[in-house]
Amino acid sequence: MRAGYPEWYLTRYSRMIHLLDAKTIHKIAAGEVIERPASIVKELIENSLDAGASRIVVEVESGGKKHIRITDNGSGILPEDMPLAPLPHATSKLQTLDDLFCIQSFGFRGEALGSICHVAHLKIQSKTALFPATQISAYQDHLSSVETISHPQGTTIEVSDLFLDIPVRHKFLKSDATEFSYIHDNVLHFSLILPHVEFILKHNGKELLNSSGITDQKQRVSLFWGKELFSKLISIDFHLLGMHFRGCMSDPTYTCSNRSKQILSVNQRPIKSSLLQKAIQLGFKDLIPANRFPLIVLDIQMPAENVDVNVHPQKQEVRFLYTNQVFEAIPKLIQSSFNGGFSSMDSLNIPFEQRIGVQSQGAVIHTFEGREESSFSYPVTKIPYAIPETLFSPATFQEIKTSHFEFLQIYDTYLIVTAGHETWILDQHAVHERVLYEKFKDQSAMSKSILQPLLVSEIIDLKPDLFAIYLEQKPLLASLGFETEEFGPAQLVVRSVPAVFTLLDMKEWLLHFLDQSKEMPAYTPDLIVQQKETLQMAACKAAIKAGKKMSLAETKELLQDFIHSPSHYTCPHGRPLFVSLGKTELEKLFLRR
Ligand code: ADP
Ligand code: MG
Repeated sequence: MRAGYPEWYLTRYSRMIHLLDAKTIHKIAAGEVIERPASIVKELIENSLDAGASRIVVEVESGGKKHIRITDNGSGILPEDMPLAPLPHATSKLQTLDDLFCIQSFGFRGEALGSICHVAHLKIQSKTALFPATQISAYQDHLSSVETISHPQGTTIEVSDLFLDIPVRHKFLKSDATEFSYIHDNVLHFSLILPHVEFILKHNGKELLNSSGITDQKQRVSLFWGKELFSKLISIDFHLLGMHFRGCMSDPTYTCSNRSKQILSVNQRPIKSSLLQKAIQLGFKDLIPANRFPLIVLDIQMPAENVDVNVHPQKQEVRFLYTNQVFEAIPKLIQSSFNGGFSSMDSLNIPFEQRIGVQSQGAVIHTFEGREESSFSYPVTKIPYAIPETLFSPATFQEIKTSHFEFLQIYDTYLIVTAGHETWILDQHAVHERVLYEKFKDQSAMSKSILQPLLVSEIIDLKPDLFAIYLEQKPLLASLGFETEEFGPAQLVVRSVPAVFTLLDMKEWLLHFLDQSKEMPAYTPDLIVQQKETLQMAACKAAIKAGKKMSLAETKELLQDFIHSPSHYTCPHGRPLFVSLGKTELEKLFLRR
């Protein structure tokens, strides 16, 4: 008995420090890697990919709790290696400690098979190109002998009765349907990240996912998440500072209620990263409504030594060497990808001249160039009109030198614009709001350097951690136009702020900035994006309201401004600006096609 310990402690823990038995140690270690059936599927898919497989079939029963079988056509395992594969810390991928800091493969710890056989029955069947096929079974410390079998080149791994002898773990598994849904997500994510690999997923004998024959990423996205999405997907292909960002994303007119359609990977390894999610949200900030999320499948290729993948037991999180660069690149690439492609109005490449026609009956029809086949038989006047180089999207309409377009205001709220085989219905308020917002953004960018002294200095209380960050970030704040000083042991005083900030709650902004800097030292915030709400409000107030009859000149000016505006997808609150209705769609609606 040890003196000084309470009695309950001594009865409960009769011995003091002691070593755990091997069985318990194995189970604890396995628990880190294998949380549920989906973790097994993930590890086994990674092994197949490391073996160079181009086709992976995943078959599961009862949400994977009862049985998981993964078959691949990869390089296989040598007969002499078979007894090593299920051993803990046995790997063919890592040779020395140095390799750990430059990992090229999905696996590297030699943990998966070793962990699986301590929580379930494991059977491996495999064949390499030159040696006969063999199989081995493993359960806990028991290894079967290696038997020769017949098996095509590649590997089949079977895992059954997960957590059978660990009832406490089994109890925490969810229903078969839920466990299967996690497996499904894993397979789907790999299948989007690696479009050149075929994935097939079956549950209780039923095929539920099959990506065979589709090697284009956007096509896979539409296969899994809806055909109608295809026309809304924009490719991402962006090089910056030795990194290559590749993938696709939805244009801002398509958003989701959560982040389930955001698939992120680094060197094709699926990862979870709240940091990257934030960067994506920032890229879409003034394009989509608050609390909505874009679809994005994004892979970042970077030198293996710039990313640490050995920071999470299930390898789901990574650490970047140059976090700020990654964070800052994402909003940039999102914006520039929008300017590089505009999918929904691709067909507008019609020549146009300008003329104007007017009619009565409550609606005004303005025609630039009366068409022979026009159904409107109104007087047409030719007016001089500056020819816009582009209509709505700089990238797509570059070739337009002249075009023919007509417009009409309806319900004093919408503008119908037609040109060639395309028709758009625009929301006059939303369009004007976007035009003004972009203008205000430019203006405030120009006035960024102007300082605004505060009439009454603002004192901000800080927690000790943020105060330390503040001292570190003071020069950066000064370079952004915030004149600040420390004031007492945990307070700062703000004497002047950048002119663009006067309307904002700069106290809230400063606290947010310091929080952000704690996570990412040396991150330079974009002040313009930060003051989005203020600019949005100003644009909304100044924009033409719905319900206002617009004069010919006003409409013309608005359309022209819109044509030249850098952003055409949504209003700053994320509402759509227009819907398009091509001649083909009309023909389909009226069954002419
Ligand atoms: P790791 O992937 O970290 O090396 P694992 O326990 O997942 O560890 O696998 C152990 C070893 O078994 C791997 O290094 C590899 O040599 C071999 N292996 C496992 N699965 C496969 C497979 N599907 N194809 C070829 N070899 C495999
Ligand atoms: Mg592995």
